[in-house]
Amino acid sequence: MKNIPELFGSMCFNEVVMKERLPERTYKALKKTIDENAPLSEDVASVVADAMKDWAIENGAVYYTHWFQPLTGATAEKHDAFIAPASGGKVIMEFSGKELIKGEPDASSFPSGGLRTTCEARGYTAWDPTSYAFIKNGVLCIPTAFCSFGGHALDKKTPLLRSMEAVSKQALRIVRLFGFTDIKKIESTVGAEQEYFLIDKEAAYKRKDITYTGRTLFGSNPPKGQELDDHYFGSLKKRVSDFMDEVNEELWKLGIMAKTKHNEVAPAQHELAPIFVSTNLATDQNQLTMEIMKRVALKHGMVCLLHEKPFAGVNGSGKHNNWSLSTDTGFNLLNPGKTPSENAEFLVFLCAVIKAVDEYQDLLRVSAASAGNDHRLGADEAPPAVISMFLGEDLDAVLKAIENDEHHKDKAGEKMDIGAVVLPDLPKDNTDRNRTSPFAFTGNKFEFRMVGSNQSIADANVVINTAVAKELDEFATELEQAKDFDKAVHDLLKRTIKAHKRIIFNGNGYDESWQQEAEKRGLLNLKTTVDAVEHLLDEKNIALYEKYGVYTREELEANYEIYLENYSKIIHIEASSMIKMSQKEIIPMSIEYVKELCEAACIKKQCNPAISTFAEEDLAQKLSAQSELVYKATEELESAMHRAEKITDIHEQARYYCDEILPLMKALRKPADEIEFASPRYKWPYPTYGDLLLSVKE
Ligand code: ADP
Ligand code: MG
Repeated sequence: MKNIPELFGSMCFNEVVMKERLPERTYKALKKTIDENAPLSEDVASVVADAMKDWAIENGAVYYTHWFQPLTGATAEKHDAFIAPASGGKVIMEFSGKELIKGEPDASSFPSGGLRTTCEARGYTAWDPTSYAFIKNGVLCIPTAFCSFGGHALDKKTPLLRSMEAVSKQALRIVRLFGFTDIKKIESTVGAEQEYFLIDKEAAYKRKDITYTGRTLFGSNPPKGQELDDHYFGSLKKRVSDFMDEVNEELWKLGIMAKTKHNEVAPAQHELAPIFVSTNLATDQNQLTMEIMKRVALKHGMVCLLHEKPFAGVNGSGKHNNWSLSTDTGFNLLNPGKTPSENAEFLVFLCAVIKAVDEYQDLLRVSAASAGNDHRLGADEAPPAVISMFLGEDLDAVLKAIENDEHHKDKAGEKMDIGAVVLPDLPKDNTDRNRTSPFAFTGNKFEFRMVGSNQSIADANVVINTAVAKELDEFATELEQAKDFDKAVHDLLKRTIKAHKRIIFNGNGYDESWQQEAEKRGLLNLKTTVDAVEHLLDEKNIALYEKYGVYTREELEANYEIYLENYSKIIHIEASSMIKMSQKEIIPMSIEYVKELCEAACIKKQCNPAISTFAEEDLAQKLSAQSELVYKATEELESAMHRAEKITDIHEQARYYCDEILPLMKALRKPADEIEFASPRYKWPYPTYGDLLLSVKE
C-alpha cells in the first residue's frame, strides 16, 4: 500500500515546498501575489526560479516549459533545457526569474483569429503564480497565460482569470451588504466530472475513423447495447481498474484530488471526478487529467476516447461543471445556510445565477459548442440544446412563495425578516435526481452539464463568472441605495423571479413536448455550433465582456473565427476519412462479396439447375443496391467537399459544412451500415461496434 498523503503533490511546487525552500521574505511576497494578485518583483521571481529549478532537478527534471492553453482548447508546451554555458566549455544548470515570469514561444502557428498580425507576429507567455508549477515527464511545467505583444489574450486562461476577478469583486459587494465584513476574497470554484470511453488499443487502431477523428463514422448498432443498464456503476474490470489506479496516482502526484471513479451508463464508458478547487486550477487540472488519461490508457493497451460521441446510438460523454462561489472564510455562497440572513443572502446569489443563465443562454450554449458536442446535445442522453435550469421542488416552492408574497414557513414556523422566506432543509439527494437538465442546482452548487468531454472547461466558466458578475453588480448597486434593506431584498428577488422564471424547468428535458414548451417560453434552441456561435458577437454579449474587462471586441471576434474554423476543420477531416474508408475498403469489399455471391449462385446452378439460389441472388442484389448508394453518396460528398474548400468566408464555410456536408455524411453512412449489417464478419474490414464496446474483456 502506497503512502498516499506522501505521494500527493510530490510532483508539484506547492505551498509546502515553497515554504520549505524559499527564504521567508520571498515566500511571503509570493504568497501575497498568489492570494491578493500583488505584483511580483523580478528579485523575488529570481529567488523563486532558483528554488524551483533545484527542486525540479532533484525530482528528475532537466527541462522546463511554459505550459499554456491556446485557443484550440488543448495545451501547449515547448521544452527548454536548464543549461547555460559556463567557462571551460562546460554548462551549468540555470533558470532565471526572467525566464520564469515571461517566455516567448515561437507560436506563430497557434490560431489567433487574426489577432497576431505580422507586425506583432509573436506572442508571449506570462507566469500564472496562482496555479502551482509541476513536473510532468521530466519537465518542469510552469502554468502560464498566452498573449500577443499587443496585449490581446490568445488563450483560455487569460479571460478566465479576468472573469474570476470580475465575479469576485461583485460578490464581495453583496456579502458586505449582508454584514460579512471579514471576507476578503471570494473565488469561483469548480469540480469537473470527466466522462470517457476505454477501448482496446488494437481494436481501436484498426479503425481509420477512430484513429483520425476519435469517433466512429460508420457502424451499425450491436445486439447488446446499453439497454440493460448493467454497466452503470457495475464492478470494474481488472484492466480498467488498474488503469484508473494508475491515473489517480499520477494525478495525486500532481496535486490533483481525483476522488471518484466508476462505470458510466454506456458499455466501456467511465467517469472520473476530482474534488473541487478554484476555477483556474480546476481548468488546468482538467486539462492535465485528460492528457494523463490518454497516456496511461496507451500504457495499458487501451485507447481513451474523449470524443463527445464516439458511437452513434450509445451515450456520449460530457463534463459536469460543478460551480459555486467560496469565501476565504470557508463559506460556500450557494449553500442555503442555517440562519435567515444567510438564507436571504443565498437567495440573492441564487437569483443572480437564474438571471445570468436566462440572459446569457446563448453564451452558455456557445461555451459548449463544438462539432463533436453537437452530436450529443439534443441526442437522447445528454442535456438538450435548450438551456434551462433545474432547482428541485423545495427551492421551486420557495421561489413561488416569494413571487406570490406567500409566507413560506420553516419547520419551527418562523418567518424571515425579509418578509418572506425561511428555507426548508434542502436534502441534497432530492435535488440531483433530474439528470436531463443542462443547469441543475445540486444542493450547494450548480452543475452545468452541457460541456463536451473533449472541451476545455475554461469557456463555460468564463461565461458563468462574467454573467453572474454582471447580475451581482446590478443587484449590489440597487441594494446599496436601499433605505429599507429587507424590503429592497424582497422586492429585488420577487422582480427577478417574475422576470426570469421562464428559464426554470423541473421536468424531463428529453421530452419532445419540452422543445415546444421552451419555444413558447421564448427560450433559445440553438441546435448546432454554427447556430450558437452566430450569437457570440451580439452587441449585448460584447457589451457584457467589455464592461467587465474579460474580452475586448477584437478578442471576441478572434474567438468567433476560431470556433468556426475549428468546426469546419473537424468536419472536413471527418468527411475526408469517410471518403477514404468508403473508397479504399467498403466499396471494394462489397463488390468483391457480391462477385463471390454471384459466382456461388452460378456454380450451384451449373451443378444442379433445379436448385434454389435465392439466398445468394437476393443478398447479391441487396448488397449491390446498397453499394451503388454508397458509391453515389461518396461521389456527392467528394464534390461537395471541393465546393467547401473553395469558400473563403469563414462563417459561410462553417454553414456549408453544417448544412450540406453533415447531411451528405449521414447519407453515406446509412447504406454503408446496411452493408455491414448484411455482410459476414470476416468480410467487413473493421471491428464492429460490438467488437469495440466489448473489447476490454476482463
Ligand atoms: P453529486 O453527487 O451531486 O454530483 P458530489 O458531491 O459527488 O455531488 O460532487 C460532484 C462534483 O462537484 C465533485 O467534483 C465535487 O468536488 C464538486 N463540488 C462539490 N462542492 C462544490 C462546490 N462548492 N463548488 C464547486 N464544485 C463542488
Ligand atoms: Mg454530477
